[in-house]
Amino acid sequence: MSRILIIGAGGVGRVVAYKCAQNSSAFSDIWMASRTKSKCDQIAQDVEKDLKVKISTAQVDADNVPELVALIKTIKPKLIINVALPYQDLTIMDACLETGVHYLDTANYEPKDEAKFEYKWQWAYQDKFKNAGLTAVLGCGFDPGVTSIYTAYAAKHYFDEIQYLDIVDCNGGDHGKAFATNFNPEINIREITQKGRYWENGDWVETEPFEIKQELNYPNIGIRDSYVLYHEELESLTKNFPSLKRARFWMTFGQEYLTHLRVIQNIGMASIVPIKYKGVDIVPLQFLKETLPDPGSLGDNYEGETSIGCRIRGLKDGKEETYYVYNNCKHQDAFNETGAQGVSYTTGVPAMIGAMMVLTGEWSGAGVFNVEEFNPDPFMDKLNTEGLPWHEQHDVDLEVK
Ligand code: NDP
Repeated sequence: MSRILIIGAGGVGRVVAYKCAQNSSAFSDIWMASRTKSKCDQIAQDVEKDLKVKISTAQVDADNVPELVALIKTIKPKLIINVALPYQDLTIMDACLETGVHYLDTANYEPKDEAKFEYKWQWAYQDKFKNAGLTAVLGCGFDPGVTSIYTAYAAKHYFDEIQYLDIVDCNGGDHGKAFATNFNPEINIREITQKGRYWENGDWVETEPFEIKQELNYPNIGIRDSYVLYHEELESLTKNFPSLKRARFWMTFGQEYLTHLRVIQNIGMASIVPIKYKGVDIVPLQFLKETLPDPGSLGDNYEGETSIGCRIRGLKDGKEETYYVYNNCKHQDAFNETGAQGVSYTTGVPAMIGAMMVLTGEWSGAGVFNVEEFNPDPFMDKLNTEGLPWHEQHDVDLEVK
């Protein structure tokens, strides 16, 4: 029996549930738990209607380790797919250690009271997972996740030395709303309003938010304004590929989005410092999240597609080579298959594939791992058959200056 427990019933949780149910030979028994059980029940009901696969559901507060441990002891899963929020990573890892269960997530830990994400907190669990003989897979969504696997695949097959890496993330979709985020608004706005940062010649270079901009051309989408942001996979990739002379992450933003964001910041609504409102402490950004569209509800009228990939330059047999590997995902295709939009889909599919890799033994080992430390080949094969086919180009103009 390969029983799994999915924690978190948002847009990404929905996709993970659908994809696991489509692969019931690998996932013979599926459980989903979250803070609001009715959201799990809705997903379970939809999966049962569309795929005739049963998903069992439960309520859990994943900030509470004893509560998690009690639930895990009742369910006895082999692996937990954590698609709740980054705040819950450490409590879920603690509960996995206490109950002897493998762990996988899609975003690194972030303390609630500080907008800062870093792997140090989760890497500190290395010895604990090693001693327990358990596997913890960190960052197995698209970015981080597939982008790191693309890099590992390029390093394995096409380069002796990868030197320049540009991860390029374009959402060329239109959901028809004036302003909405594609995943949890609180996490998303915390991420993009931080200072930018990239790796160059062995050190981090810090930039103001949105300081570095370039027009980049994305397959099937066209030219989009792309900005350098700090993104978590840069931390592990620069550690695991020390030949990198420069590593950057680019994301596209439209002018309308940036104008809304500037206003949100200027009026204090992006703040995570609690304020008193009618005698009650509220966090402005958490309040804002409640007023913005639920990212899970965007799928219905979402048109267009995402295009995310890696543009790499390096050496092979002493000669300079360039390589571009990417996936394009249409929001409508994602919605028709799972009821979720493309950003949730491109995160949930890799999470399912990573879980499959661990359960089938393709990825194994005791300790805490970033995905680029595993063999990329079986994962790349599954991307092609599970809805995120990739394309590659050699000897191309990478554009990134
Ligand atoms: P949502 O906000 O839509 O869903 C989060 C879910 O987690 C909700 O069901 C929420 O419950 C649940 N949750 C929150 N706190 C707790 C808690 N204390 N106990 C139990 N459940 C809890 O987020 P998304 O689905 O959009 O994103 C999920 C994760 O995926 C995030 O960590 C995000 O950062 C990550 N992500 C990763 C990407 C990648 O490419 N690597 C890209 C996009 C997202 P409730 O419904 O009660 O609020």
